[in-house]
Amino acid sequence: MSSILIKNIGTLVTGKLERPLRQADSILIKDGVVQAIGNGLSQAADHTIDANGITAIPGLIDSHSHPSIGEYTPAQNSLSWITNYMHGGVTALISAGELHLPGLPLPPDARTALSVAIVTKRCYDNLRPSGVKVHAGTLLLVPGLTEKDFDEIASIGIKLVKFIFYDYSLLPNGEAERYVSWAHVRGIKVKIHSGGVSRSGVSQVAGWEIVQKIKPDIIGHITGGPIPMPEEDMIRIANETDCFVEICSSGNYRLALSLIRVVKAKSVYHRVLIGTDTPGGTGVIPRGILREIAYISSVGEVPPEKTICMATGNVGRAHGLDIGILEEGRPADIVLMHKITGSVARDALDSFSKGDLPGISYVIIDGEIRVAGRSQQTPPPERVASETCC
Ligand SMILES: [Zn+2]
Repeated sequence: MSSILIKNIGTLVTGKLERPLRQADSILIKDGVVQAIGNGLSQAADHTIDANGITAIPGLIDSHSHPSIGEYTPAQNSLSWITNYMHGGVTALISAGELHLPGLPLPPDARTALSVAIVTKRCYDNLRPSGVKVHAGTLLLVPGLTEKDFDEIASIGIKLVKFIFYDYSLLPNGEAERYVSWAHVRGIKVKIHSGGVSRSGVSQVAGWEIVQKIKPDIIGHITGGPIPMPEEDMIRIANETDCFVEICSSGNYRLALSLIRVVKAKSVYHRVLIGTDTPGGTGVIPRGILREIAYISSVGEVPPEKTICMATGNVGRAHGLDIGILEEGRPADIVLMHKITGSVARDALDSFSKGDLPGISYVIIDGEIRVAGRSQQTPPPERVASETCC
């Protein structure tokens, strides 16, 4: 493994809400891990990157993604989507279930659901397209699973299960509650598909009442994916629970704004996650997370350094993962970005505040340079970082 020194950073965003901005202009990376952050670091490294005064942020994490087989997505019959998302600054994807597998009976029976989760987890453990960390193997909860099944998924490192196809008329039998407690004692998080029916046509509708009964950790696409729950239900969840709430690109933008109003009033920024809920009927959106950050920062008037936390540190914390924070000892997943030529913004953060897309110059994942100079998916930033000798 090699070392990288990034110097001359203009603005450093941490991904941590307690301190979203840090006064520092250099980052030293060794063996894939952030070794030091400070001012004027000058250690020798295998690669020295002059950030040229642009902004460093933690790699973006898509909180709601639907990987299937490698970089192929059956949902849009397209290839290389994960590499394209990486060029949009995404360094990790959280699977909300591998339900696009061609021919998968929906809803799957318990044995099939378990098998898909195990196979997908194993495959992505062994495959990181363009370095992107794909947290897959999300078990779709259906009737008939046993506590042994939860032992099995925990033993291979699956960290997420999801209610989407579960028949909620069965709730009185207590099985769904048992699933939640079996997950929690094993450190597994529980997500729920909320709102109306999805493209599959067989997902179950869930709003305040179901959420209150199941008590999941994360409300998947609370503002719609694509159809949200009634606005009053969403506001009740925001006000009366501590659940994480996802805003996804596939959703209803009016409700996203309504949710942000509550988040600001209650100052619960730490509970908001940003995802795309793609690939799917919404398409393949390599710049999806950047666009969500720009929307919430500009139309929602949230400081962009806080919005970035919703697509980085918050997502890592919600899913029990050590990613999304730019600090010493953490994986070196870093994106360097700046305003795009012609934008009236001053820099990357001001771009988000004004609703403009920033341009990406570098993407580093686990200390490996994956994009250098400029991204293939954003217009080039006005200023780029570049490698300098010694
Ligand atoms: Zn989804």
